[in-house]
Amino acid sequence: MNDKIYDVVIIGGGPAGLTAGIYTSRDKKDTLLLEKAIVGGLPASTDLVENYPGFPDGIKGIELMNKFKKQAEKFGVKFSDFDEVKNIETTDKDIMVRTERHEYSARTVIIASGSVPKKLGVSGEDKFMGRGVSYCATCDGPLFKDKDVAVIGCGNSGLQEGGSLLNHVKSIKFVEFLPHMNAEKILQERLKRHENTSFLLNHQLLSINGDDFVQSIRVKDRSSGAEKLINIDGVFVYVGFLPNTKFLSKKNSSGKDVVELDDYGYIITDRYMRTSLPGVFAAGDVRSKKFRQIAEAVGDATVGALSVSEYISELN
Ligand SMILES: Cc1cc2nc3c(=O)[nH]c(=O)nc-3n(C[C@H](O)[C@H](O)[C@H](O)COP(=O)(O)OP(=O)(O)OC[C@H]3O[C@@H](n4cnc5c(N)ncnc54)[C@H](O)[C@@H]3O)c2cc1C
Repeated sequence: MNDKIYDVVIIGGGPAGLTAGIYTSRDKKDTLLLEKAIVGGLPASTDLVENYPGFPDGIKGIELMNKFKKQAEKFGVKFSDFDEVKNIETTDKDIMVRTERHEYSARTVIIASGSVPKKLGVSGEDKFMGRGVSYCATCDGPLFKDKDVAVIGCGNSGLQEGGSLLNHVKSIKFVEFLPHMNAEKILQERLKRHENTSFLLNHQLLSINGDDFVQSIRVKDRSSGAEKLINIDGVFVYVGFLPNTKFLSKKNSSGKDVVELDDYGYIITDRYMRTSLPGVFAAGDVRSKKFRQIAEAVGDATVGALSVSEYISELN
């Protein structure tokens, strides 16, 4: 560790982290952004984003994130990729952010660490991960050219990414636990129009089976109780998310989480994005809230970054 104290350390390089960086660095705050993988967040592995304003024809997720990054770089954000935050702690004079290899000192921290896809927890899921089981259609879709696949989950993510899979695969069986789909109507209509899609609503996935690679799934009709085996070459999972807050749930000396979390592990903030710990702010999907979208993450981060600027000027 050196003696440098950053004005702002941002944790996470998705839409929220990058937006926060644009604002704080443009406001001449010395800003460091820590990213556990490569900057871009969830949109970097999303095919087409159609609902982010300013792009009437839609834009590839990765392209949008490259634009965010370029703008943050222009105003002077410093980036440290493959630098996963393990914990944060306050001292009398600053906030310590520890990663595996480094310790950083900051006057304020913005947590924008987002969430990760939830696993199904069914038999075969771990065994066939990377051998037919995937959580990213954009990354793995081309590997399933002319194959029959299943998409588990008919929310927005499942249907949207199912749409991009149709560019590669022969057919898709959508499996949804609920008797109805939660996805936006426009997505439902678009996917239903395809003759190579079919929908198993009110069905529970019981297992993923095969030898070396996925060969079938077993599902149960929740109304009749009937089970059936469906031959399939791949399974794409979109059943929700878990917050990236493990580094915060480590209890501190007083027996409390580092910042206040809700029952699901998401960070509780006020409307200025302040967490329960002074100087620590949160923005984007990692926050306890109802909706999770890029435009929302951008909005949260804008408020969070402006709150940070105000907080720092009050410290001075
Ligand atoms: C399949 C799919 C399709 C989607 N499509 C759309 C869409 O069309 N339109 C839309 O508006 N939204 C869409 N969304 C939602 C959108 O992606 C999210 O709302 C948005 O990415 C949230 O941004 P974020 O910055 O809060 O989090 P994220 O994008 O999740 O970014 C968080 C970043 O933090 C990093 N990180 C996590 N933990 C640490 C740590 N300990 N240390 C350092 N870095 C860490 C992660 O690696 C990640 O890069 C989609 C989501 C999915 C999964």
